[in-house]
Order: sequence, then structure tokens, then C-alpha cells
Amino acid sequence: MSISENVKKILSELPPGVELEVAAKSRTLNEIEESISAGAKIIGENYVQEAEKIIPLVKEKVEWHFIGTVQENKINKMIRLFDMIETIGSVEMAQALSKRCQLFGKVMRILVEVNSGREPQKSGVFPENVEEVIREISKLPNVKIMGLMTMGPAVDAQNLRPYFKLTKALFDHVKSLNLENVEMSILSMGMSDSYLIGIEEGANLVRIGTKIFGPRNYSR
Ligand SMILES: *Cc1c(COP(=O)(O)O)cnc(C)c1O
Repeated sequence: MSISENVKKILSELPPGVELEVAAKSRTLNEIEESISAGAKIIGENYVQEAEKIIPLVKEKVEWHFIGTVQENKINKMIRLFDMIETIGSVEMAQALSKRCQLFGKVMRILVEVNSGREPQKSGVFPENVEEVIREISKLPNVKIMGLMTMGPAVDAQNLRPYFKLTKALFDHVKSLNLENVEMSILSMGMSDSYLIGIEEGANLVRIGTKIFGPRNYSR
């Protein structure tokens, strides 16, 4: 099936209220534009270097989300390029971002990334620290917390369910606190092989690459 057919099929099958984010890392401008023509409204990019070559060339109005590793020396570019950053994994990172956003007169919408598998080598906030980290970040003037994102550990999709459940429970808990400057409306969980499980566990944003574009060619 073509990129366009894949996007249309996924969009037609998503339950109401669940949004598709096209995970576009390593894909060409043409491939990304085909997904947009087919109805994609949110595009996720992992690399600033790739994004800055592509985003200015896309004429259609879409939302650009950053889903890669935040590097402090790239924050200025990220602020100019992206509408949302889904991978805020610490108070310090949010502070650096808010400070730069202040200079640009912008408020960046962010998701706090949860390290739901508590993997030491991975980024993201450990589940037991999520409330405290969100309370701190909510005090920053130029970032706005919109929800949570998680990847989960590299296990078979079926085994991701407990990590998604845990992240949804955290999402509901923080939402119930009704914190000022915290919206808790977006829960980003699930990729090509796991998005149906993500949706079953409460995701309303799913990040899909391979199922739309086919396997990635890392040599590009
Ligand atoms: C690549 C990527 C995805 C999509 O993965 P696929 O398996 O290709 O669907 C989702 N989220 C993040 C953060 C990614 O880097």
C-alpha cells in the first residue's frame, strides 16, 4: 500500500478523540508531504538537523512536534521550528527551555516524558517523581504542560501494556490535582506495533512511522 493509503486507513480506524502523529524521522520531504495530503495533521521529528531542512519547505499548515532527545545547544532552533516538545524529561530541561522561550516571547507547549520502565540509560521522569517534577515545571512562565508521553521499554508490544497503564494512572492522578498552568489533555503512547494497545490503555495521541512509510533506511 502507498503512504497515502496507509495514512487514510489508520485515520479511518482511529477511535474518535485519538489523533495520529506521523513519526517522520529519516523520511524525505516528498514522503512527508504525501502523508499530509492524505490527512495527517501532526508530524513528529526526532532530529533538529533533519527538521530544519524539511519544516520550512512544507506549505501545508500542520503541527510539528519534537519527539527526540532535547539538546540544550539546539533549543533556539527548536523554539523556532516546533509547536510542541513531547520529550521534556527533567525540571532543568524545562527551565532552560522556558528561559529561552522568554527571549522569543513564546510559550512552548510540552509533554513530560515518563520513563515508565524506570530504565537508567533512558531519558524521562521516573514514575514516582512525575507529580513533583510537574509541580516544579508548572511554575515556569514560558512553558505549558499539556500532558504526558511515554515510550516504554524495548519489549514485545503485548508486554508494554503495564507501562501504558501506569502512565495513564499518572496522567489521571495529575489531572485530578487541577494544577495551575497544567492542562493534562494529551496522552502520547504507542507506535506502529503498539498503538492499538496504547489506545486501549487511554492514549489520545499515537506516533506512527513504519506502518505508514515502511521500514526505515538508516543509511540515508
Ligand atoms: C520513531 C519513533 C516512533 C515511531 O516508531 P515506528 O515504530 O516507526 O512507528 C514513535 N515515537 C518516537 C519517539 C520515535 O522516535
